[in-house]
Amino acid sequence: MKVLLGSRRAIVAVVVVIVMVACMAVAAAVSSAARTVAANGMTVVIDPGHGGADGGVVGTDSGRKEADINLGVSLSLRHFLREAGYTVVMTRESDKDLAKAGESFKQSDMRERKRIIEEAAPDLVVSVHQNFYPLRSVYGAQVFYDEGSEAGKKSAESMQSILNAALDCERNAKSADYYILSCTPYTSILIECGFMSNAREESLLITPEYQRKVAYAIYSGITGLLGDGYGE
Ligand SMILES: [Zn+2]
Repeated sequence: MKVLLGSRRAIVAVVVVIVMVACMAVAAAVSSAARTVAANGMTVVIDPGHGGADGGVVGTDSGRKEADINLGVSLSLRHFLREAGYTVVMTRESDKDLAKAGESFKQSDMRERKRIIEEAAPDLVVSVHQNFYPLRSVYGAQVFYDEGSEAGKKSAESMQSILNAALDCERNAKSADYYILSCTPYTSILIECGFMSNAREESLLITPEYQRKVAYAIYSGITGLLGDGYGE
């Protein structure tokens, strides 16, 4: 009888443990289902311009490096895109350059970005930069495309109109001879989010809140480009 009682207790204990484990497994499955976003099959490469030894342009009033603003906007953009199910590949995720020791700095850095893009075979490449101009009154987001790319032109024009509306500026997409836009066959645009030479825009660009706002505007532009009807 004692033995039986003992084994009954043991059975009860085992059942309790099984129920607890099952509950935990269900809870984990539910929370993981809530967090998992179905992949939408699209890949975007985000290229935060400069980094490491190459800080890019420097804010006139703040002395802040372009490379840091580019990374802030890019990390926010990655967050929004991932939430929507995009696969995101970054050319850099911290304040570092991509140059290899012993090679010409800029060439080596840019070649590595090209390699990352080629490996990702993306639907879109977005290179993120900040602008600078001696005339301090000049401001606004500016989108560039490679002049030889019809898809790049279309994408840049669409992105420019979204940014004009979201960031209250009035610019036209332009073609430019930038390596990052022409080094691969993938549709590529380069966004100068604002001017670090314009007092008002610089004061905004250095804040995480405005960097998020810019990132969300770019994200909206990307979903407009890669959303319904893409490739038709
Ligand atoms: Zn730049």
